[in-house]
Amino acid sequence: ERPSFRTVLRELTEDPAISPGETLPDSDPSVFHKRYLKELRELGEGHFGKVTLYLYDPANDGTGERVAVKALKQENGHVPDGWIKEIEILKSLYHSNIVKYKGCCTEMGGQVVQLIMEYLPLGSLRDYLPKRKLGVPQCLMFAQQICMGMEYLHSKRYIHRDLAARNVLVENDNLVKIGDFGLTKYIPEGEIYYRVREDGDSPVFWYAIECLKESKFSFSSDIWSFGVTLKTGICILNKFSEMMGATQGQMTVMVLIKLLEKNLRLPCPKDCPHEVKLLMEQCWAADPAQRPSFGPLIEKLEAIRR
Ligand code: ADP
Ligand code: MG
Repeated sequence: ERPSFRTVLRELTEDPAISPGETLPDSDPSVFHKRYLKELRELGEGHFGKVTLYLYDPANDGTGERVAVKALKQENGHVPDGWIKEIEILKSLYHSNIVKYKGCCTEMGGQVVQLIMEYLPLGSLRDYLPKRKLGVPQCLMFAQQICMGMEYLHSKRYIHRDLAARNVLVENDNLVKIGDFGLTKYIPEGEIYYRVREDGDSPVFWYAIECLKESKFSFSSDIWSFGVTLKTGICILNKFSEMMGATQGQMTVMVLIKLLEKNLRLPCPKDCPHEVKLLMEQCWAADPAQRPSFGPLIEKLEAIRR
């Protein structure tokens, strides 16, 4: 797809209709021009961003490519550091189970406003699950692919911190990719965790106990979230929110810590294979050091699939 896109851009550079004052991309395929983005439909939104499907159509004849474009929900003129970091991180990742970075769209003045990614037609795993009931083999295959993307991410010393079905994207019935690196943090060599203080709006049901109690995020806390994601694949209902009723904010966190300290965990449905149940329990070990890492998880899932 890239070469053809380059060709389009080359043609574009030769187009005399373009005003001379404009900085042209020098056939840089990662520079997208706002005026060629034709909005098709909204794809989804989370806490920070909004993702929209566009047709990027420089030739203006409907032959362009479909791209997913992420923008911050609140735009008040200045571009937050975190947003630039998210783009830089995605740009540096190359893996078949991680959503592909395509480029950026900058506003006049050079501020990056939109992140352009490949479009995954089946949307998030969260939206996909209720529509097509996953059989156990497909669920295990997806789980393994998520582990592969995560193993790669960890090998680059990044922790995701927001691994959940809503942030896993579905290409087709056989392929999922990890998306949304908005909370991703780099763990410097020699360090074990990242300590964070944020107010509210954190995905607490996906958080490991040490994240809730001490705001300590590590490679092992991603494993916990993977356990929750795996559970979502098996049974989409989030039991915790049900168990806790309508508590809010800090109260939720306190109740959740109490439940987890009593060693209560998300229940597995009856039809969940015993080995998968064991894996989830390992991911939810109270001691982070007792949790497996993604490499061994890939192998264990492989063994269950056979
Ligand atoms: P936020 O940082 O606000 O959580 P996300 O990156 O998670 O934003 O995107 C929000 C939603 O948009 C996702 O849950 C998914 O439904 C949809 N989405 C995001 N990226 C894509 C994509 N590349 N292709 C298709 N849908 C996407
Ligand atoms: Mg998200």
